[in-house]
Amino acid sequence: MPALGFGVYQTPPDETIAAVSAALATGYRHIDTAAAYGNEREVGEAIRHSGIARDEVFVETKIWISDYGYDETLHGFDKSAGKLRIDRIDLLILHQALPGEFDRTVQAYKALEKLYTDGRVRAIGVSNFMPEHLTRLLAETEIVPAVNQIEVHPYFRQSELLAVDTEHGILNQAWSPIGGITFYRDGTHGSTLADPVIGEIATAHGKSPAQVMLRWHLQQGRQAIPKSVRPARIAENFDIFDFELTAGQLDAIDGLDTGVRGGPEPAAITLEQFGIEIPEA
Ligand code: NDP
Repeated sequence: MPALGFGVYQTPPDETIAAVSAALATGYRHIDTAAAYGNEREVGEAIRHSGIARDEVFVETKIWISDYGYDETLHGFDKSAGKLRIDRIDLLILHQALPGEFDRTVQAYKALEKLYTDGRVRAIGVSNFMPEHLTRLLAETEIVPAVNQIEVHPYFRQSELLAVDTEHGILNQAWSPIGGITFYRDGTHGSTLADPVIGEIATAHGKSPAQVMLRWHLQQGRQAIPKSVRPARIAENFDIFDFELTAGQLDAIDGLDTGVRGGPEPAAITLEQFGIEIPEA
């Protein structure tokens, strides 16, 4: 799995082909989508039209909570693979735990295990799982998730969860890696992109704040999946392999953690509030 991927949450379907095409032309070889994003079809189309061999592009997607349960999740795979028009998904993950109906979450994960052992997916994992969700999942299933995709950016670092993942050999995959969720909700946290500490480090390296944040993830062993619909930013976010942050600079960014999450509280996810129907095709 590439160290740096490309996200498409909130990328409208009619902009997804252009965005993913620009990412692939730039050099990204990992696309992160989800059944709930409504743009799997366009992601698949962009990959097919890129001329890049299928096995050179790492495709990750997510099963939404409305499709949890053993048979439902197997069918969720068929829906995603059908829209993407690919036979084998590289990484398939559960988008959220359903804390109030954890049995259903476990059954969904068992379906992922079946897909893995049948060779329909190359790896399986989870997203937004907190330590207590991982403990329960690991106790009731066989295959340790390859990744936990979680909110991590300079204003919300989740250091305890990062350590729990690492202890189990689970890769930390950072969503909103440059703090997108904080400025989508501007006024709540302010923007990581305008943070003076990050800005000063960026100036010292002749790089942008986004590049500094992405470099921070990679140097601390996290995979990151920045999103953009603008070709210049897509290229900027990929141009991070020619500089290195010092230990002091990594620590300074760690010190910006507010402990306040931008996204929904994982413990509060319910079907009643967040359930949406994932269309068949
Ligand atoms: P990001 O941290 O990637 O930030 C994206 C935002 O930053 C967009 O508004 C984008 O605008 C802007 N942007 C991108 N690059 C730059 C740049 N170089 N300079 C200035 N602004 C920039 O946040 P996301 O929330 O989009 O997260 C990234 C990915 O993580 C998602 O696409 C998705 O794949 C995944 N994700 C997963 C979640 C989960 O629950 N598992 C939840 C949320 C995200 P523009 O497009 O206009 O350039």
